[in-house]
Amino acid sequence: MKTDIEIAQEAVKLPIKEVAESYGIIEDDLELYGKYKAKITDELWQQVKDRPDGKLVLVTAINPTPAGEGKTTTSIGLADAFTRLGKKAMIALREPSLGPCFGIKGGAAGGGFAQVVPMEDLNLHFTGDFHAITSANNLLAALLDNHIQQGNALQIDTRQILWKRCLDMNDRVLRNVVVGLGAKADGVVREDHFVITVASEIMAILCLANDMNDLKERLGKIIVAYNYAGEPVTAAQLHAVGAMAALLKDAIKPNLIQTLEHTGALVHGGPFANIAHGCNSVRATKTALKLADIVVTEAGFGADLGAEKFLDIKCRKADLKPDAAVLVATVRALKYNGGVPKTELSAENLDALKKGIVNLEKHIENLQKFGVPVVVTLNSFVTDTEAEYAFIRDFCEERGCEFALSEVWAKGGEGGEALAQKVLDTLEHKESHYHALYPDEMSLKDKVKTIATEIYGADGVSYAPAASKALARIEEMGFGNLPVCMAKTQYSLSDDQTKLGRPTGFTINVRDAYVSAGAGFVVVLTGAIMTMPGLPKKPAADGIDVDENGVITGLF
Ligand code: ADP
Ligand code: MG
Repeated sequence: MKTDIEIAQEAVKLPIKEVAESYGIIEDDLELYGKYKAKITDELWQQVKDRPDGKLVLVTAINPTPAGEGKTTTSIGLADAFTRLGKKAMIALREPSLGPCFGIKGGAAGGGFAQVVPMEDLNLHFTGDFHAITSANNLLAALLDNHIQQGNALQIDTRQILWKRCLDMNDRVLRNVVVGLGAKADGVVREDHFVITVASEIMAILCLANDMNDLKERLGKIIVAYNYAGEPVTAAQLHAVGAMAALLKDAIKPNLIQTLEHTGALVHGGPFANIAHGCNSVRATKTALKLADIVVTEAGFGADLGAEKFLDIKCRKADLKPDAAVLVATVRALKYNGGVPKTELSAENLDALKKGIVNLEKHIENLQKFGVPVVVTLNSFVTDTEAEYAFIRDFCEERGCEFALSEVWAKGGEGGEALAQKVLDTLEHKESHYHALYPDEMSLKDKVKTIATEIYGADGVSYAPAASKALARIEEMGFGNLPVCMAKTQYSLSDDQTKLGRPTGFTINVRDAYVSAGAGFVVVLTGAIMTMPGLPKKPAADGIDVDENGVITGLF
């Protein structure tokens, strides 16, 4: 089997103008970034915005193993399969961060014969959106420190600064730094922190904003610090909004690329799925719904985090109504949830599968709580066995759940036709009664309790004193009606990553909370959440190279 990058480099790409044309987009409505990438103009949105929406299909997954279980791969292959079946389909995905590219996980362009291209461009600088977000984030940081240096008219308490600098790189030494060292003219000394760009609130804002006006309004609401009286100080008070928005002028436009089989993909934005909501931009999803009859989109991590946030935050706020959910499972992840260590996942193990499949069962039940019809798919790996497939198929069918094997990694769109057919049947025969899990008016603690008990299967929630205090303060400030964004380990339904399968008899422990007022959600932290990852002992960067012709090797 060839590597992902070898397959991608051998692909015959169509000029992106031709891909655009197949969706009725004329060249005038594209901003070309070379031959194979383009941004979609505002004018196009104005032309299509009153059209009826296509069907929206969410791709989500069970609790993953540390490698990622193929949501992106499945999303791409499924859309290619729709195209093969004569449907006008489009994909809406997140842009990859450089951190995982050079770290452990690798890129995010799909895998095998279900990829979007050019994969090197997408995984590296792409159209510069992350650069723009990084710049806007750091402009706000610079304005904040400059304000303090120039007399601090807003009385910002330097012990209560919330805004952090950012960088799109896994670089652990920047987690905790001291800035302002030197002479008086070098600024006020204080402890500072870096987050990875995808964890910046600007990323979440860009992904939830409807248009430039909405973007500016949200940027203005960002709480950067508290003053000595304990009141929030916002980006608007620092007069940062116009300049930040200017930096983001192009970044808010969705990017169009193609799959190996020339299905269009709008790849735009990439917020973290823990301290943010983990899905591509609202604008890309909405544009895709106007251009295609079926839109396939992905939410990060497992369904307990990704799908819950997609449904409770993105769909609620953007008024989107998903028509079906595809729940991706792998034999490997189910065995992992049955207690098999990562190194032994390739061997057949029906006992572990029986133990681990309760994880799939819980995610099926969870998605049904949102009123969305579910299709389960098994992303097939060469190490899987017939006996393992049969067991999972029977399990799903006994629960009245549609099931299809997906072989898109090995076969591209052709390997996804069985799944696509099941999804089409579902779209045709099962109506979606999508509703959010909890109402806006519910108190923040009740929202957390609803998610913890209904989705995670917890008995209840316990709060550290700091967390209770923070939530009370957030409600006092008038943010009690926002949805909550849970930051929790992705490996378990609980907040303890060692509790696999379908844990019971546990409580969720909330350590702290803060409001992302611009993004429009309240982040609830369980356990320690890493917002600036580090590199492993042997980072993926070790194997990456480029030759004298500009051909990159070693990216995956
Ligand atoms: P996710 O979106 O769930 O994080 P990805 O689709 O990005 O997962 O896939 C993660 C990695 O697993 C990629 O490197 C991809 O090539 C690989 N992968 C996905 N599906 C398969 C498969 N069926 N067989 C082998 N490798 C796969
Ligand atoms: Mg993915």
